[in-house]
Amino acid sequence: MKIAVLKETAEGERRVAATPETVKKFIALGADVAVEAGAGDTANIADADYAAAGASVGTRAATLKGADIVLGVQGPDPESLTGANAGAWIVAGLNPFGARDRVDAYAAAGYEALAMEFMPRITRAQSMDILSSQANLAGYKAVLDAAAEYGRAFPMMMTAAGTVSAAKAFVMGVGVAGLQAIATARRLGAQVSATDVRSATKEQIQSLGAKPIFVENVAGIEGEGSGGYATEMSEEYQKAQAELVSSHIAKQDIVITTALIPGRPAPRLISDAQIASMKPGSVIVDLAVEAGGNVEGAIAGKVVERHGVKIVGHKNVASRLAADSSALFSRNLYNFLSTFWDKDAGKPVLDEEIGDAVRLTKDGKVVNQRLLG
Ligand code: NAD
Repeated sequence: MKIAVLKETAEGERRVAATPETVKKFIALGADVAVEAGAGDTANIADADYAAAGASVGTRAATLKGADIVLGVQGPDPESLTGANAGAWIVAGLNPFGARDRVDAYAAAGYEALAMEFMPRITRAQSMDILSSQANLAGYKAVLDAAAEYGRAFPMMMTAAGTVSAAKAFVMGVGVAGLQAIATARRLGAQVSATDVRSATKEQIQSLGAKPIFVENVAGIEGEGSGGYATEMSEEYQKAQAELVSSHIAKQDIVITTALIPGRPAPRLISDAQIASMKPGSVIVDLAVEAGGNVEGAIAGKVVERHGVKIVGHKNVASRLAADSSALFSRNLYNFLSTFWDKDAGKPVLDEEIGDAVRLTKDGKVVNQRLLG
């Protein structure tokens, strides 16, 4: 059983799908591990560290030759996988809805593609959940990015020269990233408020010492759909939410938006007129920018200014903390494969619940219900 760890090729991707720690653990399970030279460079892991952990380090061709499992952060180009075994597993964040052509190409090439972002949100799979591990770091970094762009301090400071008032921060979308953004903004001393369409988040917001801002008295108010994910809201709700946001946002210095709906474009939460109502020097970070954006005028990969307000649209925010995000991503992959490791077979054998959820392709076909249905 050979596991190949590739150097990422997507633009701006700094993470790597295995660390020396997980390499050692895979070897302890009985696998051989090959790492493409330079794979860890952007996450501060040297080739020598992989070699010391027991991996062979070499060219892409040598890494892939005879591989049964290929690990990636993002999905590798199917054409670049020459040498991997027939039916090899591709285990990575495969962006199944956004990169459907590539999924079809994995099927055509006979690979078994396993999309880690389709991991079910169930208790026993928490340690395998890349969305959570990466969103948590992205929520933290979003607040630091906001603080870096903000020309003022976050905490209240009482000094001999006078008082600096605390920044007011508003977090929109309180999933994993939003909860970490609230906690981080609180740690930095901001006064924090937050909103979501799922009423279950109210208590979570309060438990972090922030103020919940919620639409009340509107039909169809519960936005929680299957798997605890948000659903698209009624027109009436969207109108009430826009009014609520308008009155609140004008008083905010920092806004962090994280709202996503799986398989759909991100909901638009902040309009240009609302941006214009904010004080000059305020900062908005749109963590959903790559999914279409929560903020009008946000541009993926850029920091832009509108009406004196900075709108931060960094792409792949977790990758901006590449050492930590790689360490957690790698452990997610290890936890996944080791949980299902069958000692007699010398390889992982997936069960139905998780296997069917993550498997996109098998035996030349796309087999995942979320893609077919
Ligand atoms: P996400 O990244 O899909 O979305 C971010 C947040 O945006 C969500 O809280 C969502 O409700 C919110 N949102 C969507 N539309 C909105 C709108 N119009 N206005 C305001 N907010 C809006 O969310 P996530 O972090 O992936 O979490 C999704 C669910 O999965 C949650 O219920 C979470 O508790 C659950 N979860 C479970 C596990 C587990 O048990 N293994 C792990 C992580 C998350």
